[in-house]
Amino acid sequence: MNYKIQISKPNLGLKELKAIREVFKSGMVVQGPRVEELEREFSKYVGTKYGIATSSGTTALHVAALSAGIREGDEVIVPSFSFVATANCILYCNAKPVFADINEDDYNIDPDDIQKKITPKTKAIIPVHLYGQSADMKAIMDIAEDKKLIVIEDACQAHGAEFENKKVGSFGIGVFSFYATKNMTTGEGGMITTNDEKINEISRMIRSHGSKQRYYHEILGYNYRMTDIQAAIGLVQLKNLEKNNKKRIKNAKMLTRGLKNISGIITPKIMPNRKHVFHQYTIRITKDFGISREELIKKLEEKGIQTIIYYPLPIHKQRLYLNLGYNVHLPVTEKLENEILSLPVHPLLKKEDVNYIIESIGELSKR
Ligand SMILES: *Cc1c(COP(=O)(O)O)cnc(C)c1O
Repeated sequence: MNYKIQISKPNLGLKELKAIREVFKSGMVVQGPRVEELEREFSKYVGTKYGIATSSGTTALHVAALSAGIREGDEVIVPSFSFVATANCILYCNAKPVFADINEDDYNIDPDDIQKKITPKTKAIIPVHLYGQSADMKAIMDIAEDKKLIVIEDACQAHGAEFENKKVGSFGIGVFSFYATKNMTTGEGGMITTNDEKINEISRMIRSHGSKQRYYHEILGYNYRMTDIQAAIGLVQLKNLEKNNKKRIKNAKMLTRGLKNISGIITPKIMPNRKHVFHQYTIRITKDFGISREELIKKLEEKGIQTIIYYPLPIHKQRLYLNLGYNVHLPVTEKLENEILSLPVHPLLKKEDVNYIIESIGELSKR
């Protein structure tokens, strides 16, 4: 299908090409000076002492979980309303994901439900800053401090998002993805952010086969390294991140202005003290809207507008987890999975595109 307006589009150009060419010229294409520079610049941006670049957001989650000491027998509380990697990184450590429900307001993990899911085996909480909006980090950090739990923030959708003027990824151990659809990209790539020297040291070892010194292996590690080619792209992308986030926020404002009065549509809510960077602009389609969500998707597709459901099946209902014996009921998650729909909000949209999306949805509604 050839869409007129795509749900996402990587914003890559000549500056990135030039940066890659410099790396080619240097002859150093694997992890090297550009990776170090990206780690320095990105951690400075987030506001942490250390940054550890990896090959993807998923491998960053795995390394963060291992560095935090998550092992067999441990339970880790996560939202089910997320991408599967959030929970899978716990399985990689032979530990057990315990699913908590979300708030209906911001789609993020519900601190009250975290409390209910804590047992003597609970080791950590992994909140997700879904769609680009921070979870309630005050409530979550308070619980963690009270119960002596580790917090790993899945900030894979939230580069530059803030809670009480502090960037996400700087509260607990931060994890970011630089996958092609994210607010900044290196094609594939990831980053761990932390103020903890020990986490920094262990993460670096795990990323590179458990070694500090080449060919001397102290612990079990992996090859989860980023290349200098990717880091060179990332450095250009990081420079443009604020500008691109601003465009996302502007597009989101326009969409909300145009859609908020249509009956049967619930527009995204920005919670107090948050900076939402709109990785996704996700509305809810309820019964009051003229047609079903599935019909709306089809009708918009006919008009050349691509929309996507992030995510059509929550993690606790995925075959993988059913086969592991999961039988959980999460009322808010299960209600919202049938209502959500993400609309294009990316920085390459023109004003006409945003208006076209608004008009097209308006025409299909009862009003
Ligand atoms: C993208 C994403 C990941 C995984 O990142 P990859 O770079 O694709 O491995 C993890 N969690 C969330 C919430 C994501 O959106």
